Parts: sequence; C-alpha cells; structure tokens
Amino acid sequence: MTEATTTPGSQSALRQANERRVVDVLRRDGTCTQAELARATGLSAASVSNIVRGLRAAGTVSVRDTSSNGRRARAVTLLRPPGAVVAVDFTADRVGVAIGDSDGNMLASERIAYDVAADAERGVRRAAWLVETTMVRARIDMGTVSSVVASVPGPVDPGTGEVGHISCVPRWAGFRPAKALTERLGLEVHAENDANLAVLAEQHQGAGMGAEHVVYVVISEGVGAGIMMSGQLFRGAGGTAGEIGHIALDPRGQVCRCGNRGCLETFVGANYLLDMLPSNPGAARASGPVRIPDMVAAALEGDPGSRRIIAEAGTALGQGTAIVANLFNPERVIVGGDLAEAGELLLDPMRRAMELGSLGSALERLELVRSALGRDASLYGALRLAARYAN
Ligand SMILES: [Zn+2]
Repeated sequence: MTEATTTPGSQSALRQANERRVVDVLRRDGTCTQAELARATGLSAASVSNIVRGLRAAGTVSVRDTSSNGRRARAVTLLRPPGAVVAVDFTADRVGVAIGDSDGNMLASERIAYDVAADAERGVRRAAWLVETTMVRARIDMGTVSSVVASVPGPVDPGTGEVGHISCVPRWAGFRPAKALTERLGLEVHAENDANLAVLAEQHQGAGMGAEHVVYVVISEGVGAGIMMSGQLFRGAGGTAGEIGHIALDPRGQVCRCGNRGCLETFVGANYLLDMLPSNPGAARASGPVRIPDMVAAALEGDPGSRRIIAEAGTALGQGTAIVANLFNPERVIVGGDLAEAGELLLDPMRRAMELGSLGSALERLELVRSALGRDASLYGALRLAARYAN
C-alpha cells in the first residue's frame, strides 16, 4: 500500500528530475525563453518544450509569445512552486479526499460513505486507498505530493497528535491519525481539528472573507468552534480551544457525554433535537429514520414542531456564542453544519439570544452569517493548510 508509484530510474522519475531542473532555473533567473531554459539545463529543446507544456497544464508556469534576437520565442514564467498537496476529511460517516496544487486550489476530489466512527485503523486504511485512487484518476503522481493534511472531527493535541476523548468519534480517542496515515502513504501528514480547518477555509474563500477575527460554529452530533484571531488559528495548549458544546447552560439540565450537566450540546446536538420531535412531524417522517436535513426541510416547509425545535436550538446556540463574543470580540461568526441550512429560522433566534447575552460593544461590529462552503469547508481548509506546510 505504501509503495511509491514512482520507482527510481523509471521514466517518470527521470521526467520529474528534469522538471525540477527547469523549475530551479526559473526560480533562480526569473522569466526565461525556452531556448534559454534548454541552454541552462542542458536538456534538448524538445524535452524543454514537453516539460513546459506539462507545467503549464498544471498551472505551475505561464507561457507567452515574445521575440529574442529578432526570432520568435516563448517566454516562460514560474507562477507557483510545482507539486501537489492532499487533503483528507474524516467525518463520522464519510471520508473525503481532495488533491490541490501547491497554492491549495482544488484540482480533484472524491467522497465516499464510510463508517469512520466504528474503527480508527480501518478508517485510515480506507482513506489511504481513496487518496491513491483519487491520485490515479486525476493522473497526478504520488511523488509530486509535498504535504498532506487530515481533518478530524474532534480535538487534536498539537503536541502529541492524539485525538481527544470527547468527540463525534469516541473510538478514535488517543489515536494518532497523522502517524497512521504517514505510515500508509509514505508521506508526511498533519492532523487538524475540522472546525479549525473550516474557519481557515471560510476566512480564505467563504463567508469569512475580509475578516481577521472569525469564529466558525459547527453543529452536528455535537457543537464545536474554530477560532481565528488576527488571522491566526487559536488552538489552545492542548488543542481543545473552541469546544463550545460543553459550555454549561443549565446546571439542572441533562447529563452530557462529557459528564457535566446541561451543556450547550444537550440543547443543540443532532440526537437531542431528533428526540424532541413529535411522533409525526409533518412530511418529514415519510420513510426511513428522520435526520437533521429532514427536520430542516420540514421546518422550511412550515412544520410547526420542527420550527419550534430549531428556534430553541438557535436560542441556546446564541447563549453559548454570546460568551464567545464577549471573550474574543470576533467580527464574524459563521454557522455551519446541517442545522445551518435552516438559515434565518436558526440565525434569527440565535442573534436575539446573543443580544441578550453579550456586551453591546462586543456585537457592534459582529456579523452572524451562514457558512458559504457547507460540508466541504474542512476539506478546503485542509488543502489550504497543506499548501502552507508545503511552501
Ligand atoms: Zn458536555
């Protein structure tokens, strides 16, 4: 499984070495004509032309017609370092993989349904297989990958790389996904919390664009937040910063999986909300088990029970987020996860609860918005972070 797709001395290794020579000259000398590149590298004009064509297709260089000593020539400019980055996105029931260029722009992606929560080792094996399959389909050589980032739906200790004990994937507690993936892929892998990656992506290309102080709140089985202050991720000493799901809202409330009572999660977590549904929530329960997207669809169609549950979840979420606003004074709070698809049915009561629970000055410049990147936010963020590690 870990065998590289390139063997030394093969056609592909030779091509990569020649490509590197061309890129090195461009990096050193700036824009060059193809003839200059041939002279500087000792490669034939035909080889240089071939390599430049490949680099151009990958977006690594730009080519324009020019003239040199009165003759037509082609000027080649390096746009970005060559190479690819890989993102792996683990959620409780799905594995996603994306390949990006060295700037983190997505070139190809694949997603499969998989019971990731059941077994960490098997989840990693499945992900490694999906990385290899996606690379082959996209015709990108594993040897060109410079960095891999894996998104994990739980806190990741920045020191040890271990997944924390309270998460959507409790069987991953103490597991080190980056180490396991490194062993399978033969590439260096970094693991990061999904909400942290989502805030990175939303700030770069989504609902957080133009803001420096951003909080991304994601609601699924649990609730978590990614916090970005002054453009930097805020992880905390052990990687658990942003675990807002365990803010205690009601000391006499339900016992939470963390052992405390009345945590925010017990007011907005998927299972808690679904348990509140009346036995016949309008059209939602037509067939199969009801899930959050069904409840949201029913609410959007006007089902009063679903609307009530979502509004109360919004209020609880606003109470928790008000504390975050008082502490961090973000300029944008982005709400993601399936429940966010309810839009203003969720955000409006959330906003009102925040007004009651936050300092006026903490809200003055605060915008509350829905995620722009949806379920793929963490995958995009993983590409972005992988590009940072690569450059
Ligand atoms: Zn809790």
